[in-house]
Amino acid sequence: MAEETIFSKIIRREIPSDILYQDELVTAFRDISPKAPVHVLIVPNVLIATSNDALEAHEHALGRMITVAAKIARQEGIAEEGYRLIINCNQHGGQEVYHIHMHLVGGKPLGPMLS
Ligand code: 5GP
Repeated sequence: MAEETIFSKIIRREIPSDILYQDELVTAFRDISPKAPVHVLIVPNVLIATSNDALEAHEHALGRMITVAAKIARQEGIAEEGYRLIINCNQHGGQEVYHIHMHLVGGKPLGPMLS
């Protein structure tokens, strides 16, 4: 069983954060240390530690993360110019918080992802 992270407290609104969207499956909030003008994290409400832990039972929540990302991108005015959706996994992927999350990053040209 994975251990809860700070994101569970954010989802339960036990600690403050800038929540942009929440429903029965996912929560989206602004990253505390933004790497671009728009930097939002979209997380499933249920704890899934990494993409390696994703099960078929999670597909509804994981799919909702993408549709919510698109909704927020439109709200933030970056849908047409474009943006990047990123899920980091484990050490080589640069994952720091072990509650799976999708980064929605945009608001400026991001350049090539790998260089
Ligand atoms: P990772 O490297 O795991 O893909 O990304 C974790 C992200 O979570 C980082 O961009 C970091 O700034 C963000 N983060 C870490 N702790 C908090 C927090 O307490 N609140 C918010 N809003 N973001 C956090």
